Amino acid sequence: MTRTFKKQLHRVGRTEHQKGSANTQTAVNAMIRDHDFGQACISCGKPRKLEAGHFRNSNQGTTRFHPWNLNGQCATCNRYSGGVTYENGVALDRKFGRGTAAFLERLSRKTELWDTRELDQLKMAARMGWRVYAQVYFELGPLHLSARKSA
Ligand SMILES: [Zn+2]
Repeated sequence: MTRTFKKQLHRVGRTEHQKGSANTQTAVNAMIRDHDFGQACISCGKPRKLEAGHFRNSNQGTTRFHPWNLNGQCATCNRYSGGVTYENGVALDRKFGRGTAAFLERLSRKTELWDTRELDQLKMAARMGWRVYAQVYFELGPLHLSARKSA
């Protein structure tokens, strides 16, 4: 079986929700790279070319698109070092407030998912930049914001 054929089979089998999630992830990743451009890697602190790296990985659906969960991360940390999770968490608490890493960890264990309409709204918001995205995101998912205060 050729590689292209396998790819097509995979595409045919994808649900609308999976397609929506993939499109939203593309838009969110681009927004994060743009927002964190010129900053140091969230995990190792080195000034490198940045990718959008997840703190709680993208298999944990609830935090997949969380604006605090994705940050500029170098390829070494993102792809080959498992995200350097501890250092990432320490940096998240510094960047977004104490308790952020623990909050994201708890939130990621829930199983709620965005519906396809919400995914579309998030994708559109991501194209307008981080601030607009965070505002829309927390309006759609207020519980993704409130618990931080009590952490
Ligand atoms: Zn790094």
